[in-house]
Amino acid sequence: LAPAPRRPIRDLPDELISQIAAGEVVERPASAVRELVDNALDAGATQITVRLLAGGVRLIAVEDDGSGIPQDELPVALRRHATSKITNLHDLESVATMGFRGEALAAIASVSEMALLSRTAQQASAFLLDARSGELRPAARSRGTTVEVKELFFSTPARRKFLKTDATELAHCIEAVRRHALARPDVGFAIWHEGKLVEQWRATLTPAATADEGKRQQALQQRLSDVLGEDFIRDSVPVHLRLGAVTVTGRAGLPDAARSRADQQFCYVNGRFVRDKVLTHAARSAYEDVLHGHKQPVYALYVQIDPQRVDVNVHPTKIEVRFRDSREVHQAVRHAVENALAAPRAQALAATAA
Ligand code: ADP
Ligand code: MG
Repeated sequence: LAPAPRRPIRDLPDELISQIAAGEVVERPASAVRELVDNALDAGATQITVRLLAGGVRLIAVEDDGSGIPQDELPVALRRHATSKITNLHDLESVATMGFRGEALAAIASVSEMALLSRTAQQASAFLLDARSGELRPAARSRGTTVEVKELFFSTPARRKFLKTDATELAHCIEAVRRHALARPDVGFAIWHEGKLVEQWRATLTPAATADEGKRQQALQQRLSDVLGEDFIRDSVPVHLRLGAVTVTGRAGLPDAARSRADQQFCYVNGRFVRDKVLTHAARSAYEDVLHGHKQPVYALYVQIDPQRVDVNVHPTKIEVRFRDSREVHQAVRHAVENALAAPRAQALAATAA
């Protein structure tokens, strides 16, 4: 067989670059939901409403009461690698926002029909930008932003074919919001599907009280109960440990609350939901002596660590992180959960359950 003739090297068109990036960032409607809620939180929203049609495939609209985007910056927000969150390498090394790559809006816009509707506190009216046509015109809304994503993957049928039923995609979208909600009791969340309210979690912490650690913990317990159910609270014990530079809080389920699936294991690093082997291994090893077989413990663990000691720029979706000293984090999490399970109240609860 003759080798294919060599073709010249060319720069890819912008649109195609975004579509390639979208493959990494947007796997399904839930990934878009996650990115848009990230943005709303970064904008300081206190109330976030997610509206979906057909499991998010036909429509995802995320509405917030955050800072808004000024009219002249709306087209910039859609550009690849355009961000308001970092300006240099130093910022990247201690990033405190959910986003920083400036990729999500460009990526989602390249595989959907997107519109941005936004108003800042200084503006007399809101503006609406249609991503495809570039048309920008005055519109009505109060301060904040609504991002509308229609017909996800309409231009990439191969990707669209991989989507599951609307019910499954909806469940993934709800899970994406749930992960955010568990970290932010100071923010109210609502999810609508096909015009019906399917989930609502009210804020139980005023913005003014977020610095009060006692009130924060109280609000967090309330949010855990609202999102995961009263059973989760009843069958778990509070976690609180500070070891060196690492603080671990949250709740750990009693051994009897363990499940066959690992579907109630939530780990956060500086407020970001992560999937991390160090954290799951540390948590699992705390149950070593009390949990046998293949049972999966339930827990929600919040790790606070100096942002300089963790690299969040490991994966395009930022769901993975790398710790500078993973042993220190492993020890902190393991001890935090072990101590919680060994506390007198945990022992008493376990005894009554037995
Ligand atoms: P990143 O979040 O990494 O900066 P995005 O593509 O998600 O990249 O967003 C680009 C920019 O658009 C953000 O940096 C921000 O300035 C602006 N933006 C996006 N969504 C919102 C929102 N809901 N409220 C205010 N600004 C937003
Ligand atoms: Mg973002």
